[in-house]
Amino acid sequence: MSLSLVQSRALLGLEAASVTVEVHLANGLPSFTLVGLAETEVKEARERVRSAIQNAGLEFPNNKRITVNLAPADLPKDSGRFDLPIALGILAASEQIQAARLAGHEFAGELSLSGELRPVRGALAMALALHTRGIATRLVLPTESAQEAALVPGGEVYGARHLLDVVQRFMAEDAQPQQAEPPAADGWARVHAADAAPMPLYADLADVKGHAGARRALEIAAAGGHSLLMVGEPGSGKSMLAQRFAGLLPPMSVDEALESAAVASLGGSFSTARWMTRPTSAPHHTSSAVALVGGGSPPRPGEISQAHHGVLFLDEFPEFARSALEALREPLETGTITIARAARRAEFPARFQLIAAMNPCPCGYLGSTLKGCRCTPDQILRYQGKLSGPLLDRIDLHIEVPAVSAQQLLGAPDGESTASIRTRVIAAREFALQRQGSPNQALQAGAIDKHAALDEAARKFMVNAAAKLGWSARSTHRALKVARTVADLAGAEAVRAEHVAEAVQYRRALRH
Ligand SMILES: [Zn+2]
Repeated sequence: MSLSLVQSRALLGLEAASVTVEVHLANGLPSFTLVGLAETEVKEARERVRSAIQNAGLEFPNNKRITVNLAPADLPKDSGRFDLPIALGILAASEQIQAARLAGHEFAGELSLSGELRPVRGALAMALALHTRGIATRLVLPTESAQEAALVPGGEVYGARHLLDVVQRFMAEDAQPQQAEPPAADGWARVHAADAAPMPLYADLADVKGHAGARRALEIAAAGGHSLLMVGEPGSGKSMLAQRFAGLLPPMSVDEALESAAVASLGGSFSTARWMTRPTSAPHHTSSAVALVGGGSPPRPGEISQAHHGVLFLDEFPEFARSALEALREPLETGTITIARAARRAEFPARFQLIAAMNPCPCGYLGSTLKGCRCTPDQILRYQGKLSGPLLDRIDLHIEVPAVSAQQLLGAPDGESTASIRTRVIAAREFALQRQGSPNQALQAGAIDKHAALDEAARKFMVNAAAKLGWSARSTHRALKVARTVADLAGAEAVRAEHVAEAVQYRRALRH
């Protein structure tokens, strides 16, 4: 048998499309041709596979014409991950392992020149794709990647350290060096998700003293799924508050954790220690639009996708490139981002909560009780004007975060703990979900009118406030959603005037 087929997967977005590695050995002028990989990757892959096979003490068919084809041809195939399937294909075609036994397995792994297996990107995405499509197959991966893939429930995942560990499993029965099943210590093992996953750890809001107003706004944002903009002078504690936001959110479901981990796995940044922990991405304001929203070839997820089911914290908000900020509008509305580059489109999930922070003016001290502001009204307008109306419109809560003086800090007791606030957040979310099946932030215009259930006084209050503040219909709807969340936190069926009054306060931190 001089033709063999080995199954693997390519990565395009979160999709892990099936790839078949076909290996054909023929008599003729000796050569080693690889079809389906980019030119530069072919040479390296050939070298790794040839060296790994030889250094593992196996036979590389040097006297044959070897043709390897990775099908289909039009998928992005970042090299490395196909080393293991290519090597197995060559060994099967040259009858050093049994081709028939490879069926029912999928393989991925990069080979070192000595035959060691190196981890691949996106192992969890691969396992998740099999899981969601109901494909029952055994995954064979480098050990580190296998630990990641094993988090997906119901899969059958094997980890191996060396090419030989894999080869031994697929040799003919009589050719196997020993009949008894060798212990897992030899580098091959079925991998199970850790039975006792660690409890997610978040920084505690109890560490933040004072800031009653900001803490309340964070609680509302967490309960309703609202995005939040904090405006305050440098050193007022905005970052400290933002870094503690993820801990206030309800615990992740397994599906959410899988999606979030799959995106991190694509970016190569997943660690099993962060399993079930809501991520907080905090890119620097010099980040490019591509780094923020994703891009490149093949397309890679950006920071907004790394923040999927978690928090995107943007400090120095107006300092981000305008193009980067405007690119946030689509995912803030839809929870996904589509990246189109040349003929290729990839969609990444990006359902994050935005927590943004900014100084009130270029010098930072507008309205400060500690220091005078040196900015002209024109400078202040220009600074705040870097944030477009449509973008600000997508952030439901705008608050001021004043600095807390040293005396206030000394006298203040510890703040309420994250765990205690989260209890109220979970109850309010549950209340909203039972009523309308989604968090308040996701309500469309018609639905918010229906579910807000304003009483007469509340309706009057809202109409007056909107007229006085010159609000658009869109701004009014945003305030209504926040009022609905305030009422949910109070366990109230109908939104009352006091709830509206509080919500109105959360849209007045900026001048324009
Ligand atoms: Zn200033």
